[in-house]
Amino acid sequence: MMTPEEVRSRAKALMPQLTEDLKDLVSHASCSFPGYPVEPVTNMRRASMALLERNGAAIRELDLGAGKPAIYGDMPGPEGTPTVLLYAHYDVQPAPIEAGWDTDPWTAEIRDGRLYGRGAADDKSGVIIHAGTLGVFEGQLPVNLRILIEGEEETVSHIGPYVDAHPEMFQADAYVIADMGNPAAGVPALTTTLRGNVVCIVRVRSLRFPAHSGLFGGAAPDALLALIHILATLHDDTGDTVVSGLAKFEWSGTEMEEDSFRVAAGMVDGAELIGSGTLGARLWSRPAASVIGIDAPTVKDAANVVLPEAAAKISMRVPPGADSEHELALLIDHLKRVAPWGVEVEVEKVRVGYPFSARMDGPAVKAAMAALEAAYETSSGTMGSGGSIPLVARLQGISPDAEVILWGAEDIAQAKIHASNESVDLAEIERLIVAQALTLQALGAD
Ligand SMILES: [Zn+2]
Repeated sequence: MMTPEEVRSRAKALMPQLTEDLKDLVSHASCSFPGYPVEPVTNMRRASMALLERNGAAIRELDLGAGKPAIYGDMPGPEGTPTVLLYAHYDVQPAPIEAGWDTDPWTAEIRDGRLYGRGAADDKSGVIIHAGTLGVFEGQLPVNLRILIEGEEETVSHIGPYVDAHPEMFQADAYVIADMGNPAAGVPALTTTLRGNVVCIVRVRSLRFPAHSGLFGGAAPDALLALIHILATLHDDTGDTVVSGLAKFEWSGTEMEEDSFRVAAGMVDGAELIGSGTLGARLWSRPAASVIGIDAPTVKDAANVVLPEAAAKISMRVPPGADSEHELALLIDHLKRVAPWGVEVEVEKVRVGYPFSARMDGPAVKAAMAALEAAYETSSGTMGSGGSIPLVARLQGISPDAEVILWGAEDIAQAKIHASNESVDLAEIERLIVAQALTLQALGAD
């Protein structure tokens, strides 16, 4: 058994090389969205594999039958020890420079201990944390270790059906998902819940063709106006989502701090938070509908007509414990019921992602909490996450008794994942390597 001090000093010794490795990973524009170039995704996968292998991992490329291959490894540890699967993803969100980047998103830059670039946090930091964890053990694994690094987490993923078809490859006693973050760097909190996500498209049709707004406006029903009426019913005046029957509960874990939330969300001066109740409840334990796209003529191309058709895409986060399929059915019913003026309304289901709630009484979560406190040298809380990781529910499906540890270096206060000027705190990566290594060691010794 290594002492926490030994683990810390090994992690520290690995950091200079791991920092260079992260710079290299950031240089590969590994966006797996349809229509984006495949070569940087392939290069990113190869770079990740080389990095993991240098740190002692036995891995291979995993062809999923469609889409981008994943990286998979199955490494036996001492007999009788539990099996732990480490997860991260190597694909990233797009990063158009005109979205407000101060530096080139694909050229890593270090300022004040943070490394900037697309994917630096989400989730190339996860690849680095897993490589560093393996590095700490120098080939002497304390548990049976599996590793899964997916290449399509940010887009239409093919890993779910593959997991369902090959459950024996992915079964584990504990899953460690390094694709999360603390409230702020240096402030540890284990993520214990994830919201689910349901998405649908509502299409409104009111006329057979565009009608002259002078001759017909005032009496002919405008499809875009009807759509706006429908969308306006999703929230009350305070901004709470008010579709009737939706599941919700009050949040009792660590709270999010309002000032840092405002900064992290990039709220303009004077803008108010929407919704009522605690911030934790609004972000982690209640439903939240957003309108994420509208099909209507652009302002530039707007002709002076009453519009015959319009459509909107609605994304709704659903709280832990809710049945996503049921919540989506409630939303779809609502959209149809509130349509004004007898217009035609069609709703198409796009996505049904399930929420997650961690078991808190098992050995892995207890070891993880203790390891966080040892790595950060302070007490740790628990928090929810508003985000969704559909694979987590799937892994629970194939290993119903498994525990799930959700953490990572994507601190909410500053990492700006999915946004411009994404960054990661390098010391946070080091602390997570220590926490992961201590957790695996504790599980192996149990
Ligand atoms: Zn991610």
